Order: sequence, then C-alpha cells, then structure tokens
Amino acid sequence: MPYFDYSAHTQADPSVLRRLVELEEHTIGNANSAHQEGRAANAVMASILEDIASLCKVSPEELILTSGATESNNLAVKGIAMASRHVGKHIISTAMEHSSVSACLTSLQASGYEIDLVRVGSDGLIDTEELRDLLRRDTCLVSISAVESEAGIVQPVEEIASILASFPNTRLHIDTTQAIGKIPVSFAYGDTISFSPHKFYGLTGTGVLIRKKGVSLSPQMEGGASTTPYRSGTPALSLSGSIVPALETALKEQETHYQEVLKKNLFLKEQLSSIPSIRINSSKHSIPHILNLGIKGINGRDLQKRLDEKGYCISVKSACSSDLLPSRTVMAMYKDRRRALEAVRISISHKTTEEELQGLAQALKDIAEEVVS
Ligand code: PMP
Repeated sequence: MPYFDYSAHTQADPSVLRRLVELEEHTIGNANSAHQEGRAANAVMASILEDIASLCKVSPEELILTSGATESNNLAVKGIAMASRHVGKHIISTAMEHSSVSACLTSLQASGYEIDLVRVGSDGLIDTEELRDLLRRDTCLVSISAVESEAGIVQPVEEIASILASFPNTRLHIDTTQAIGKIPVSFAYGDTISFSPHKFYGLTGTGVLIRKKGVSLSPQMEGGASTTPYRSGTPALSLSGSIVPALETALKEQETHYQEVLKKNLFLKEQLSSIPSIRINSSKHSIPHILNLGIKGINGRDLQKRLDEKGYCISVKSACSSDLLPSRTVMAMYKDRRRALEAVRISISHKTTEEELQGLAQALKDIAEEVVS
C-alpha cells in the first residue's frame, strides 16, 4: 500500500534489526548486576553510549536513553521546570509544538507556571523579535521544535540559542524528532535535545534525551538504578544498541536523502499544480519531506478516509493529535479555521517512488473533482 506517512513512523532498517538480535543473543546479564555477566552487559552498554555520544558529538554522561521522544520531551520540559523553580515559573514555547510538549505545558500551567506562546508568521517561522520581548529574568525554559511536525517548518534554532545567550538561567529545550536524518542538526545548540529513532528507520520504543553538563533536571521516574540518575529502570541494552546503526545511517545519508526527497517533493507539487482547489500549507521554510495541504470543501479527516479507501496512507496533522480539531500549526500560520480543518500531512521519504507520487496526485485530483461536482 503506498505509504505517505514517514513522519509518523518508518520501518526499521535491516541493520537495526541485526544489531538488536545480535545483542539480545549475546548478552544475558542486567547491566546493573555486579556479577560477571552483569559487568559484561555494563561494558557493552558503555560502548553503546560512547557510540551514540560520538555520533551526536556530546559526552556519554550527557545521554539519557528513554522510550521515545514523548518521554524525552516530558522529562525535559517538566524536569527543567521543576528543577528551575528558583529561576522562576515562566516558560516560552509555540502553538506548534508536538502534544508531548504542549500537554506538559498545560499541566505545568495548572500548577502555577505562566506560559507564553511566541507568535508565528504565515511562513511558519516564530517571531524572534517577539521572543526577545517575552523573555524575562524569571523565564526558566524556552521549548521549541527544530522542525515542526505538521507542516515541517524549520525553526531558526541557532538564532534562538543566540538570543538566549544573554539569559544564562533560561534553559533551551529543542525537539529534533522531525529533524534528524532530514536536515543537518547541530547538537551544540540547546540545553536538552530530544529525538525518536523510529522516525529514521530505528526502532519504536527507543528515545534519546541529551542533557548538557550542568543542566538540572528533576527525574520523572522513581526507583530502580540505571546508567543515569535521570531515568531509572534496567538499561534496555539491545534496544539502545539498535539506535547506533539507525543514527549512523541517518546522519551519514542525510544530504543524499535530502536531495532525493527534494526532487520528489517538487515532482509531487508539479503534479498537483493543475488542481485549483488544492491549497499548500507548507511554506518555503518546510522540509521537503513534509507537504501539508488541503482540498477546499473537504475536511482533513474525510480526505484521509477517502485516500485510505483508494489505498493511500497519509496523516491528518501528526499521528498523535485528535483528527477532529483544526491543525494548530495551520491555524497559527494562516489564522483560518476552515483551512486548518482541511489540512492533511503527506510525508515522503527517499524510498517513495515516482509511481506512488503519480498515483497519489491522481487520487487527490479525483477527490478534488468529486468535491466540486
Ligand atoms: N516530537 C515531534 C516533533 C514528533 O513529531 C513526535 C512524533 N509524532 C514526537 C515528538 C513524539 O515521538 P514518539 O511518538 O516517538 O514518542
């Protein structure tokens, strides 16, 4: 079935599966156990952490392995907010964050934190001038996605980090879940950085949070020892090992894959250009891997259903938010509820074929004509 939902999930690469099986077959001990097999597992875990750290150009002590970006974002946002109460209870973010960030902000707000959402322009970029105005001495956290998940907007992370340089007590959390393997990501920016390997041909159930040295974080789980005090529980050795080949390939092939996806994105847009009722919501700042669009007169959920019936898998917004609500991203960009309700997300990969793109364009054309008549 033609798959256009690579931003929701990718299928694990064979090298990832091989590493998982290899590690599972050859290690028996719990990495926390003091006996020989435990020590052996601990040594393997240490080398896995070394490998991931060297790929991210951070130190192994800065790595917290989690179950996914949802957990990483929860740990970063709530963990920083709770550990930085002495700084203040003011947080800045955007209306375009993934629900694993925005839901944390809602619950922090209920417990007395003040949340400001920085304005977003129709091109999807945050207004960095407004960010400067919103920053206060009691701002404990700024949380932003390097690439937003519904329209694929690339935010100016480097500029945001430089604005925050004059606020040394304000922590910056960067969600790079939709960025890794798609655009170059510098792990030099941000106090905490999250991502999920299943977005780049790794395994679901693995996640990473980078916590830079000196950043205080309140652990969100209690009990049980691990390789880090910030996330307890027996280290998931084979799952952790599977991150290495996924990340290695994602970083090594990023530019090649980007060029391939860019060509496919342009080809799809060209095919769609003859359909007058299609409105593209992605902007010039979107990654080519995500094309957010809508057909006038049909809401996103119905469009998804009609495409599903024709054999095409796409998303309404991101896989983790309710399909009945308007897209928060499209709403923030265009301030148009109708447009936000019509929005769907098509996500492509270097694996997407021209034939699949032609088929999808034809299916969209047919639906657009049915809607008009
Ligand atoms: N952040 C962003 C930007 C995402 O797109 C996603 C996945 N939809 C997540 C966080 C959560 O990732 P996971 O579902 O792997 O926990």
